[in-house]
Amino acid sequence: MTSASKRHILDIVTCSPEQTYMLGKEASRFVYGGLCIMLNGDLGSGKTTFVKGLVCGLDGDEAKSPSFNLVNEYAGRINVAHADLYRLKVTDGYDLGLYDYLNYGYLLIVEWCDRWICPPSSDVWCLSFGLFDVDVEEDFLPDLGNKRKITFTCLGDKACKSLAMYAESIDVEGAKKCLY
Ligand code: ADP
Ligand code: MG
Repeated sequence: MTSASKRHILDIVTCSPEQTYMLGKEASRFVYGGLCIMLNGDLGSGKTTFVKGLVCGLDGDEAKSPSFNLVNEYAGRINVAHADLYRLKVTDGYDLGLYDYLNYGYLLIVEWCDRWICPPSSDVWCLSFGLFDVDVEEDFLPDLGNKRKITFTCLGDKACKSLAMYAESIDVEGAKKCLY
């Protein structure tokens, strides 16, 4: 994936798991079959929390971390395949059928997507999760525990249009957003 062609749409800071969950739930109104949502960020940065909200918004079963079986499927308004590549060093995606899911019209969600060596180059949302950079002067003993900064980029016209519409509509109480 060429980072040059990625479009930066939105940064958002959430202050609780509930806010990240709601962010995912709101995203469910803008995703479509054939879209790939790629999630990056350290363990505990909130990727699965976002996915749980998203899958709930699609009326799917309760999402669980697929780190043991690598891919979970959920039936809902849109069929979802939820992969977690944490236990793999790298994958070309074919062994797990990741492209098949997209071709069959699933919404494909991939945690630890940097391990996928040749991901799609359009119909992609990329979400990068990180700990919020707390100002030490402002907070003598900074508690990094509950703030997460999520950066949203996209690849391809359709994905960027839907991500921009989602970004405009986000209204999660307590979360701070910055549109680009
Ligand atoms: P990941 O899938 O990135 O490993 P999870 O979503 O499984 O992360 O876990 C995130 C953890 O961080 C949970 O224990 C959650 O309660 C906690 N947490 C604290 N603040 C937040 C936040 N703002 N957003 C998401 N999770 C948060
Ligand atoms: Mg996870």
